[in-house]
Amino acid sequence: MTTTSTHSTVLIVGGGGMGLSSAWRVAKRGVDVRVLEQFPFLHKRGSSHTEHRIIRRTYNDDIYSRLMVAAYDYWSELEQDSGQKLKYLIGGVDFGPADDPTLTDLIRVSKEIGIPLDVLTPAEAKKRFPQFNLPDNFLLTFCPENGFLAVDDCMKAKLDQARRYGAILQDEEQVLEIIPRDHGAEVRTDKATYTCDKLIVTAGPYVNNLMQQMGLDFGYTIELNQAHWFEVKHPELFVPGTFPVFIVRYDASSIGGMYGFPTFRNPGIKVSIHHSNNYIDIKDYDLQPRENTTERVLEFVREFIPDVTGKVLNLGACPYDFPTDEHFTISLHPRHKDIAMANMAGHGYKFASVVGEILAQLALDGKSSFDLTGFDVNRFFDPGVPHRPAIHVDIMRPKS
Ligand SMILES: Cc1cc2nc3c(=O)[nH]c(=O)nc-3n(C[C@H](O)[C@H](O)[C@H](O)COP(=O)(O)OP(=O)(O)OC[C@H]3O[C@@H](n4cnc5c(N)ncnc54)[C@H](O)[C@@H]3O)c2cc1C
Repeated sequence: MTTTSTHSTVLIVGGGGMGLSSAWRVAKRGVDVRVLEQFPFLHKRGSSHTEHRIIRRTYNDDIYSRLMVAAYDYWSELEQDSGQKLKYLIGGVDFGPADDPTLTDLIRVSKEIGIPLDVLTPAEAKKRFPQFNLPDNFLLTFCPENGFLAVDDCMKAKLDQARRYGAILQDEEQVLEIIPRDHGAEVRTDKATYTCDKLIVTAGPYVNNLMQQMGLDFGYTIELNQAHWFEVKHPELFVPGTFPVFIVRYDASSIGGMYGFPTFRNPGIKVSIHHSNNYIDIKDYDLQPRENTTERVLEFVREFIPDVTGKVLNLGACPYDFPTDEHFTISLHPRHKDIAMANMAGHGYKFASVVGEILAQLALDGKSSFDLTGFDVNRFFDPGVPHRPAIHVDIMRPKS
């Protein structure tokens, strides 16, 4: 869809997970908003596809668990707006060595915040979840309020609700240039030039070039993740309600843990590892899964889920963007206060509902009511800006 006016109060670059949430939240306030997306909406060249995304209250850093309270509420609001079920709270487990600091912190944070959590020994875990094979030195936590989001339904719901509240949604239009102005910004695409009072940039793994144009010469690393649907010998043991979403907090080769989902709309269980160590230049992205990642995931999954046969039923590639500390960027531009941005460091879909609200607040109110300590983009430039302790410091990421 196009309109003849090229000015908007709010202009959003990128109609992916965060951009469409922002459009829904801004439009719901009654403010005029336009989204520019380079590919057809709901495409598979970004970070927000492949059937499910884990949603969980349990984090080892309390800022995320506290933000999740609002994220759950905004997902519920989107469910009400769209009349559609989006979150499947079937329960989720985390397991790893009992002394793994991320696991002990997760237990501590959950207690502090009052998140329901069972902590099980391997023998107890075996009785409740016989699908997992856990070494004796492990422990397993279970949170009944964790689960997954049906990501494709979420994307469609955000698109439809943004449109219903009046957002102008333009796809197959690539933003080539962002020019910050004293007031607002100018945006040049392959079709037209637009102006706006407030700009929101949510470009996911395509962000680097745009960051440079905004005078933020900080490189995000773009890594190729991929989802594998593995065949299991006893499919009846791997359905929602019997089999939880899971995260393995064990990382023998410092590559980031494994996580997965019960069977949902496609046969098999879906499993990924957080860091494939396959880094790409997004310009050359070919949408092809990499065999070396499949081999590593299979090795990992066989160790902990012996029912997996080894047959890969389906594969989906998906790039995502990481800054050096692997924390979110949800921020106003340090020098151009009419520009807000978000990049989600490979673990942000579950937050998309609240990130849309935060970006709407940053753009329209100039500040957010949520605690964003450690998410300011200026932390990459000014050591005086608060940082959070880095996640996965050992990964073999090329230096940016
Ligand atoms: C395989 C995989 C599994 C994951 N699992 C989980 C999980 O279980 N739980 C969880 O919470 N998170 C998970 N994540 C992370 C989460 O999905 C991402 O953090 C989130 O989807 C990022 O959304 P985004 O809007 O930043 O990026 P995207 O959804 O990629 O959106 C960015 C959009 O901007 C557009 N764009 C970029 N540049 C331009 C331009 N110049 N002009 C116009 N349009 C442009 C792109 O085309 C794209 O549509 C996973 C990610 C992957 C890849």
